[in-house]
Amino acid sequence: MNILILGGGGREHALAWAISQNPKCDRLFCAPGNAGIADVAECVRLDPEDGAAVCAFVEDHAIDFVVIGPEAPLAAGVADDLRAANVLTFGPSKEAAQVEASKAFTKELCDAAGAPTARYAHFTDLDAAKDYVKTDGAPIVVKADGLAAGKGVTVAMDEATALAALDDMFGGVYGAAGAEVVLEEFMEGEEVSLFVLTDGEAMLPLASAQDHKRAFDGDAGPNTGGMGAYSPAPVMTAAIRDQAMTEIVAPCLAELRKRGTPYQGVLYAGLMVQDGKARLVEYNARFGDPECQVLMMRMGAQALDVLLACAEGTLDRATVNWADDHALTVVMAAKGYPGSYAKGTAISLPDMDQNPRAAIFHAGTAIKDGQLVANGGRVLNVTARGATLAEAQERAYRILDQVDWSDSFHRTDIGWRAL
Ligand code: AMP
Repeated sequence: MNILILGGGGREHALAWAISQNPKCDRLFCAPGNAGIADVAECVRLDPEDGAAVCAFVEDHAIDFVVIGPEAPLAAGVADDLRAANVLTFGPSKEAAQVEASKAFTKELCDAAGAPTARYAHFTDLDAAKDYVKTDGAPIVVKADGLAAGKGVTVAMDEATALAALDDMFGGVYGAAGAEVVLEEFMEGEEVSLFVLTDGEAMLPLASAQDHKRAFDGDAGPNTGGMGAYSPAPVMTAAIRDQAMTEIVAPCLAELRKRGTPYQGVLYAGLMVQDGKARLVEYNARFGDPECQVLMMRMGAQALDVLLACAEGTLDRATVNWADDHALTVVMAAKGYPGSYAKGTAISLPDMDQNPRAAIFHAGTAIKDGQLVANGGRVLNVTARGATLAEAQERAYRILDQVDWSDSFHRTDIGWRAL
C-alpha cells in the first residue's frame, strides 16, 4: 500500500515509525512531516488542511490509505473530502469531529447520551456569564468553545480569575474560539486518557496512557501541550475502563450513529477519576500527543492493521496483542515554552543503533544548512520501552542525557504518579 500521513509533530513521527514497520506498507508519505519523519517517510510540501490539494496528491501518487494525525484537518473536513473521493481514510468526519472542535457540542452530546460529565452552562454573552460565575462561585472552569490549540481553558480557583478569563475570551484573546464560552463545575480527581478505536460500530479500547500537562516537575507551572507520557497507567483499572466504555464512550458513539454522523477513527476521552469512577473532561478527535508516542512504541507494526480496520469497517475482527511491558516518553522543549522561545538552535542526537527498544520522535525540528535545529516549542520525544515502568524511565532519561541541545528543558519526573 501507499500511505499518506497528515501532520508533522511527535504524534505523526510515532505513527510513521510504527506504520513503516508493517510489511503492508510500500511507500509512506507525510505532509508536511519534519526532520525526524524524513527518516521513515517521504515528506511532502502540502497543506494538510487543504482538502482539494490532499485529494490531488492522493490521486497523483496512487495513495491507498490516508491517516489524519491532528485535529485541524479533521475540523476542516479533509476526511469528508477524501471519503467523497473514495479514499480509505482514518479519521472522523467534520460533523463527528465536533466532539473536539466545540465544547458545547460535546456537553450537549453527553446530555443526550446520559454520559457523566461536569455540570455546565453555555454563554454567548459576557454579562450573563459573569452573573453565573458570581452565583455559582469558585472553583469553576472557564472554556472557550472552539479550538484554541489546548490553551482555551482556565481552571479558576477564585472568582477574580474566572472573571478575568471571561474578559479575555469575550475580548478576543482566542479569536473566534472564544466568542462562545462554556462554564463548568470543577472536578477533582486524577486525570487519565482513554483511547478508543472505532469504525462507527465496533469499538476497540487501546492500552491506557497518562500525560503530564504542566511544564515543570511536581506538576507545577503553566499548562502545555504535554511534557511526557507513559503506558500503561495504573490509575486506569479494568473496572474504570469498563465503566468509562459503558457509561461514556459507547452511549456517545451510539448517539452520533443515531444522528446519522457515525464516528470513525480514534476517540480520545480525557477522564477525571475520583473514588473509582470516571467522568468525562473532554473528547478529542485524534491521538494525544505525547500519548500516541508510547502507544505506538508498544503497538509497533500492528498499528497499521487496526487503523486500516477502522477505515474498512472490520474492527470487530481486529485485536492488538499488547506485550506485558511499559513505555515512557519525555518531551524536550525549547527554553521558554509554552511562552516565547528561540528557534534555530543546533541539536545533536545519539546513535540510536546503540539504543534498541527506544526511539527519539521529532516534533518541532528542521534541517538548516545540513544541521538539525529546533523549530518549535516541543521539539523531541525521547521514548523507551522496558519490562517495568522504572526500567523504561531509566532508559529514556539515559538516552536523553546523550542528546546535545543546550537550549532545551524537560521534566525529570515523568511517570512519578505510577512509580
Ligand atoms: P480540556 O481542554 O477541556 O481538556 O481542559 C484542559 C485541562 O483543564 C484538562 O486536562 C483538565 O486538567 C482541566 N479541566 C478541564 N475541565 C475541567 C473540570 N471541569 N474540572 C477540573 N479540571 C478541568
